[in-house]
Amino acid sequence: MRVDAVGFDLDATLARTERSRAAILAAATDRVGAARITRAEYLAAHDEHSGGDTREPVFAALLDDRETNVNPAILAEAYREALADTFAPVGDVLSLLGDLRDQYRVGLLTDGPVATQRDKLDRLGWEELFDATVVTGALPAPKPDERAFDALVAGLDTAAESVVYVGDHPQKDIVGARDAGLVPVQVRYDDGPDTHPAAATAVRRDRLVDELPSVLAGLDDE
Ligand SMILES: [Mg+2]
Repeated sequence: MRVDAVGFDLDATLARTERSRAAILAAATDRVGAARITRAEYLAAHDEHSGGDTREPVFAALLDDRETNVNPAILAEAYREALADTFAPVGDVLSLLGDLRDQYRVGLLTDGPVATQRDKLDRLGWEELFDATVVTGALPAPKPDERAFDALVAGLDTAAESVVYVGDHPQKDIVGARDAGLVPVQVRYDDGPDTHPAAATAVRRDRLVDELPSVLAGLDDE
């Protein structure tokens, strides 16, 4: 193949949420001056009071048990913010994408609501990083629907068979890209899914920034 362009998944591929929910909870309570809530207390309240659009009822129940003036809506918002703050690049993604853009067109294809995904890009400072950015919340269906990949390919202004798509999810990213005619590269991480047979190759996420340029060069045989 000739590689003209590279498309990326966002969540768990270029950026990830750190897993310590207990630390996120501590950050949220500290931010609003509330007493610490244990993870066990949070989970018990969550089981009983979740289901709405926000976590406000969960925090209202937790705060009811304490003598406090903290507003549950403000604590719920602090928790949402603390959660969003842990979404971080998997390495020096800025320099990787900068280097790739010298040689290829570079795109992003991500599932999720447009506002949510744009907010993540805004927080990362990545809004201007891609030649094409497609959020499937604006489309009829998410990945692995072929129309999602078609929109990326159209945005990159090339042919599907010249686009490498890099993602972590075996069905959504790897099978989806393959079925739409792109060349899938699977990002792997500890305790994550095995390499899907539809992947052209795989690369470890903690090696992505260092190794992707040579992986792409290896796929580009023209
Ligand atoms: Mg992903």
